Amino acid sequence: MEPQDQTTGAEPIKANVQCVGCGYNLLGLSADGVCPECGTPLEESLRGYLLVHRSGGHVARLKRGVSFIVAGLLFWVAVQIIGIVVALITVIVVVRSPNTQPPALLESLVTTGSVIDLAVSAVILFGWWLFTARDPADPVRDRDANVRRGVRSAVIAQIALQLISLVLVPITMSGGTIPMPGSNPQASPLFVITSTINFLAGLGVMAAVVVQFVAGMLYVRRLALRLPDARVHRLARNRMISCPIWMTIGSFIFIGPVIALLLYWNLLNMVRKNLNRILKEQAAGQMGGTAGEIAAL
Ligand SMILES: [Zn+2]
Repeated sequence: MEPQDQTTGAEPIKANVQCVGCGYNLLGLSADGVCPECGTPLEESLRGYLLVHRSGGHVARLKRGVSFIVAGLLFWVAVQIIGIVVALITVIVVVRSPNTQPPALLESLVTTGSVIDLAVSAVILFGWWLFTARDPADPVRDRDANVRRGVRSAVIAQIALQLISLVLVPITMSGGTIPMPGSNPQASPLFVITSTINFLAGLGVMAAVVVQFVAGMLYVRRLALRLPDARVHRLARNRMISCPIWMTIGSFIFIGPVIALLLYWNLLNMVRKNLNRILKEQAAGQMGGTAGEIAAL
């Protein structure tokens, strides 16, 4: 077949979308053309691919998920800033009047802080769970199955390991005493076992965070093709590399982790805006074929 005249200005397809007629890979072809193998209009193959053609319920679920993540991250930053300010005030108060029982005050503040921290992490993890939900009405096979499962496994692992730590810390505190130098070098077996498990759980959480970040960025990269948003697609790959660099090497200049968090937040916020736009387009009935799907919800 002759190459089609593709001067109509439609975007070339940037994903491995298969033709619904023959399975031919449509990567790089103009979206308003036809399949070079069987002549099926490409629009028909893209219908099942682009999110705007999916049910409004599914898009709304993804948007709810990413909104939880974006809001959770902002709240987390606010909590950290408040924590630093409170700590500074406490130090000043303690220095000025040393009779105000500082250990009890500090202890309650630290406990409150860690409870809020846990609650915010739970909101963010729940957001990732929703954001990586499968479309139950997926008309084609689930192309993102592996990255979705990667994110979701990491979410479950983090919750499970955090719960283990939460249960073990009081047991560790009651079951053993911290061996004092010179007095009794032998810690109780329970203390050794629980603190070892706690340490391993901590390592496990760190590993799960890394898995969730990488799988999450890969997921955003794929989802970007279905928004479609070429910028988000490109940035998801760039930030999969730049965020860990800012987080690790960048921490030597103190502001590095803040920049990493900003870049991460900004990318997810772009996805949120895109999903909002799609929901508005669907509500405005710009996609004729989805009107029935929206009505059926
Ligand atoms: Zn075809």
